[in-house]
Amino acid sequence: MKSEKTEKMIRRAEAFAVIACLLAGSLLLADKICSGGPVFVFGREEPLVLLDPGHGGIDGGAESPSGVCEKDINLSVCLKLKEKLEDYDIIVEMTRETDRGLYTGVINDGTDEMKIEGKRSIRSLKTEDLNARRDMADDLKPDLFLSVHLNSFKQDRSVFGAQTFYTSGNSEETGEKSRRLAGLIQDEFLSMIDDGNTRTPMNKNDVLIMKNAKVPTVIAECGFLSNRREAAVLVQEEYQDLLAEAMKKGILAYLGIEEKAAAKEESESPSVVLSDT
Ligand SMILES: [Zn+2]
Repeated sequence: MKSEKTEKMIRRAEAFAVIACLLAGSLLLADKICSGGPVFVFGREEPLVLLDPGHGGIDGGAESPSGVCEKDINLSVCLKLKEKLEDYDIIVEMTRETDRGLYTGVINDGTDEMKIEGKRSIRSLKTEDLNARRDMADDLKPDLFLSVHLNSFKQDRSVFGAQTFYTSGNSEETGEKSRRLAGLIQDEFLSMIDDGNTRTPMNKNDVLIMKNAKVPTVIAECGFLSNRREAAVLVQEEYQDLLAEAMKKGILAYLGIEEKAAAKEESESPSVVLSDT
């Protein structure tokens, strides 16, 4: 049995420890704020990024003239980006990591034997899928939510170029953060991919994941599958890696994380030049 005096001393020591921890924590936070360093969501040490490879499963997304599906390229680019971000101790969650949709009632999803159960329409499955992606962002509360897609404009196949879109968000702060992230990623697209692209980030609120978004949300349309020249490079691993690299740089800049020296050197090699030949 401990004496009353010893118990009192233990309690006092415990109280001191708690106060010391709180003090150290607030000093650390104050230091980060004062130094202009990133301050991440309270209770989380590392930043959290939610990546969303658009479409999947029954929904192939846009298609190139030769039949390449958007969903596969979106996933490949996101998996590369995930790896690059994890190099910086960023926690990366993904809405999907395989060829599937975020809906229920599809047997053997993403395979040649896919079968829709019951009488559900593709439209209702797509709505369930988009709602689930949006719910993930709302629940996880990541520092940023990046949805990766490819564009298509069959009316004019000369149209090309990667472009970012940002939400106005549910508050001025979320809108402003989204706009800043879209700008940083767009800057990297333009400087790393020498294809004559002059696109600028655009505000977009008419899709489910963007409407009144609670967290900074950006859609990156990484190019046009309807354009012959762009479709030809979009299927290449090397080009997909370049897209992921551009988005990584934009995200690092947004989070205030300095790029590692080795990675910097590597990325200073000549950017890819697209040609029609
Ligand atoms: Zn898409």
